[in-house]
Amino acid sequence: MADTRHTKVLIIGSGPAGYTAGVYASRAMLEPILVQGMEPGGQLTTTTEVENWPGHSEIQGPDLMVNMEAHARAMGTEIISDLITSIDMSKRPFTAQSDSGTVYTADAVILATGARAKWLGLESEEKFKGFGVSACATCDGFFYRGQEIVVIGGGNTAVEEALFLTNFASKVTLIHRRDELRSEKILEDRLMKNEKIEPLWLHELVEVVGDENPLGVTGVRAKHVKTGEITEIPCKGVFVAIGHAPANELVKDTLETHMGGYVVTKPDSTETSVPGIFAAGDLTDHKYRQAVTSAGMGCMAALEAERFLAEQGGEEG
Ligand SMILES: Cc1cc2nc3c(=O)[nH]c(=O)nc-3n(C[C@H](O)[C@H](O)[C@H](O)COP(=O)(O)OP(=O)(O)OC[C@H]3O[C@@H](n4cnc5c(N)ncnc54)[C@H](O)[C@@H]3O)c2cc1C
Repeated sequence: MADTRHTKVLIIGSGPAGYTAGVYASRAMLEPILVQGMEPGGQLTTTTEVENWPGHSEIQGPDLMVNMEAHARAMGTEIISDLITSIDMSKRPFTAQSDSGTVYTADAVILATGARAKWLGLESEEKFKGFGVSACATCDGFFYRGQEIVVIGGGNTAVEEALFLTNFASKVTLIHRRDELRSEKILEDRLMKNEKIEPLWLHELVEVVGDENPLGVTGVRAKHVKTGEITEIPCKGVFVAIGHAPANELVKDTLETHMGGYVVTKPDSTETSVPGIFAAGDLTDHKYRQAVTSAGMGCMAALEAERFLAEQGGEEG
């Protein structure tokens, strides 16, 4: 028979949103269980320096997440290495099935499953991730002051990232497969007027090239989609800006979503369309997608779960 665990608050996800929810829910004596998923620590474990986490002018992403996990654990969060495979939200307590076979029942659930940047899938892109290849201009643009940068993509994300990166870079080359942008007209106008940005139309990235020791990008090779001709562009940074996908697999058929699958929450709240189910972090955030905003939403979710449980008269089930 399947092992069943009941908790007042089940937190799904171990990024900044999940661990912060754990800290707050533990301090509210809710004895939360947090299920970590396939990527313990979340997206920040895939990067190197983080320079915008308050309190640390620089910290390695994996170290920050180890600290957050230890903090949540120290406050009393039970952290479990497991993967939630489905949730029944039709009645309370909610029931979550897991990969290990354990069934978790919970009076409230905090969804903090995050998002993933879309990547091109090139071997060289993978090799230089965190060493010149990034998917987040807000996070990493600052590292490229006075340098040449390449941005890949042609939609709103790419144009916004290219414009933002002109605050730091000496030159931004925007590589796009088509001969026109798919972004909003106003963004396109801004991009075309910006003297630091040079579009390279009808090209796709074929390889990121760089040094081995220390590992770092020195340029890219892009292929003309019609002629196959290769152009080499020197640069120190490559920003892949072809979009993000929220990790909404557990809830996309049950909760309201928008903007390409992000879970809708009520204004100024983490409440979803199902009472007792809260969503925090990149799963709900198509706009900021930052560790600190995710942590803030994790805090909100725990406080709102606490209030919800108090209104329900405490524990159910
Ligand atoms: C390369 C890179 C560099 C970045 N640099 C910065 C930076 O410098 N500063 C900054 O502020 N932000 C940065 N970001 C963005 C930041 O990492 C995210 O905004 C933040 O991690 C989002 O936190 P989150 O808690 O919402 O989710 P995530 O960090 O995405 O974590 C999601 C968690 O959910 C878990 N999960 C998913 N599905 C399941 C499931 N079914 N069951 C159980 N668990 C599940 C995963 O295992 C993971 O632990 C960067 C992102 C990337 C990719």
